[in-house]
Amino acid sequence: MPEGTIMKALSGYYYVLDEGSGVTLQCRARGIFKKRGESPLVGDKVVYGETENGEGTVDGILPRRTELVRPPIANADLAVLVFSVVHPDLNLTLLDKFLVHIENAGLEALIVWTKMDRIPEGAEGEEIRRTVEHARQLYTSIGYEVLPTSSRAGTGIRELERRLAGHIAVFAGQSGVGKSSLLNALVPGLELQTSDISEKLGRGKHTTRHVELMALPGGGLVADTPGFSQLDFAELGMTDIGSCFREFRELASGCKFRGCTHIHEPGCAVRLAVEQGQAAESRYGNYRSFMAEWKEKPRRY
Ligand code: ZN
Repeated sequence: MPEGTIMKALSGYYYVLDEGSGVTLQCRARGIFKKRGESPLVGDKVVYGETENGEGTVDGILPRRTELVRPPIANADLAVLVFSVVHPDLNLTLLDKFLVHIENAGLEALIVWTKMDRIPEGAEGEEIRRTVEHARQLYTSIGYEVLPTSSRAGTGIRELERRLAGHIAVFAGQSGVGKSSLLNALVPGLELQTSDISEKLGRGKHTTRHVELMALPGGGLVADTPGFSQLDFAELGMTDIGSCFREFRELASGCKFRGCTHIHEPGCAVRLAVEQGQAAESRYGNYRSFMAEWKEKPRRY
């Protein structure tokens, strides 16, 4: 039986791409899924069969590696975090927030700086360059990949394309950072409105919100809707937040108390590392404010 990937789910149909041939087949799901309370998701690897009317049936879902709730997508394994270096300025608090959610969801992260060509000349530009370079070094030292790009100048686009090959990626970032411009640069002829991806397909007037995967010329698949659209911490436990900061997770084994929250406990290895300049104060500050935010949220369980 042939295998394929669900690219789109709409009005009871699943559009299954055979990645070998590049052909997409319109399929119905077999009744068995409903009976079991299962439902195929965009991103699912499925086995399917062709029917006489030129359509097909989804006959089985292969085990999922990951599953995101918002957007509903299976097997996404790479989150591309898009941050502009100017207009708007680099927002490291939001970056840390995204990273918590990505660590929690078990995805790889790729941090992409956009609009590198828009950094002005002169003293103001020098200051921005220093900030950007400092942030690049910080996140690289923690173990994240950082890729500086410019969609307009074409900088970093081929590297990004190579990095996305073989993955199912979601793009995340606040509006105006250039997510659509990046996707337009990656997919020739796509021509998304550059205001935001979500406005293109997700929030049309008469369409229900749905997720769709786009095949990249270089071989990867990208969700057209922003990932991690609701960034609150309601689904995380208190100690989860600390373990989603990679460098704190490593340091935590040196804390005096198990389950140390790294806020007030004596003998905390994380606080010591921050005091000694071995862990970034900006990250620790964001950690503390996320913990405070977490405490204010109504729990869902
Ligand atoms: Zn601690």
